[in-house]
Amino acid sequence: MDRIELLRELSEAFGISGYEDDVVDILKKRFGDRVSIGRDRIGSVIARKDGKSERPKIMFSAHMDEIGFMVKDITKEGFIKFLPIGGWWSGNIPGLKVHIRTRKGKLVPGVVGLKPIHELSEEERKKLPEIKNMYIDVGATKAFDAKAKLGIRPGDPIVPAGGFVQMANKDLLLGKAWDDRVGCALLVSLLDNLQGKKHPNTVYLVGSVQEEVGLRGARTSAFAIEPDIGFALDVSICRDTPGNDGDITERLGGGVGILIYDSTMIPHVRLRDYVCDLAEANKIPYHLASIRGGYDTGTIHLTKHGVPCLALGVPTRYVHSDASVISLEDYENILKLITAIVENFNDDVLKKIIE
Ligand SMILES: [Zn+2]
Repeated sequence: MDRIELLRELSEAFGISGYEDDVVDILKKRFGDRVSIGRDRIGSVIARKDGKSERPKIMFSAHMDEIGFMVKDITKEGFIKFLPIGGWWSGNIPGLKVHIRTRKGKLVPGVVGLKPIHELSEEERKKLPEIKNMYIDVGATKAFDAKAKLGIRPGDPIVPAGGFVQMANKDLLLGKAWDDRVGCALLVSLLDNLQGKKHPNTVYLVGSVQEEVGLRGARTSAFAIEPDIGFALDVSICRDTPGNDGDITERLGGGVGILIYDSTMIPHVRLRDYVCDLAEANKIPYHLASIRGGYDTGTIHLTKHGVPCLALGVPTRYVHSDASVISLEDYENILKLITAIVENFNDDVLKKIIE
């Protein structure tokens, strides 16, 4: 199924913050000549899909970067010291299989090493491992001079090796970087859905750079677009795993996560309510979600004189690890909702929201 192929391709793409070019290529290829494509000057992709009217301008932003690491230094024995890029919990890092990409484009496999439990003191066993004590083992031995042979240099990007899997429950996809390659896939699927439709607005599909290090690409691309409203298409948190009690609405299969709160924005309330009403009118399942963390809308909504914004989430288990899980059914529901938004959002709706 092409949907799964699209998601697999984007999940497997290599690209920490600042190194998003592989994702740029995929988006450009998938968008094709159905849109006019530009870049802002720090690299975000801005695709414009014209409708019947120039306004309102609707911006959908999905970030192309994934969390990962960067080479900080190489020990004289050939072990790689690294910097975290994006929000890592140190407990998720030891044992990760990774790829380092050298300046020449070579992918070097490695594993994040740490002293084994046998070698830890009583005190060390009680504490979380610290990144400064970790290193990446690329196979350096006395007989293999990794430093001389591999051409790895400080600044080289590192991503988890991941591994895309359709689970035994066929609705679920396990992979790296759903945050936010699932949003990138939605940009493509939304464009597919809009073929031959005359929508009363202009749609901007933005693959933003450097979200994981401070919502940076969305800021500059919003400045370039000057949208009337903006949406982040991203992941939201699932609480349907052991350790959470009660009536869990933020779950796989829970439909669209409509964010009522994140650390970077209170959504525009009339836009939020409009979208909830639209979901109900179209019988699209959704739930209200919150997160400690930010979305591209955190900078978009502060552009110029302000932009009404809302973040929409695909419920995801194990966000910010090397293996997270999403549901295809949720994907289809969020796609239905953003398609309905584009089909319905005209000048009158905008006026009611901003009046
Ligand atoms: Zn994200």
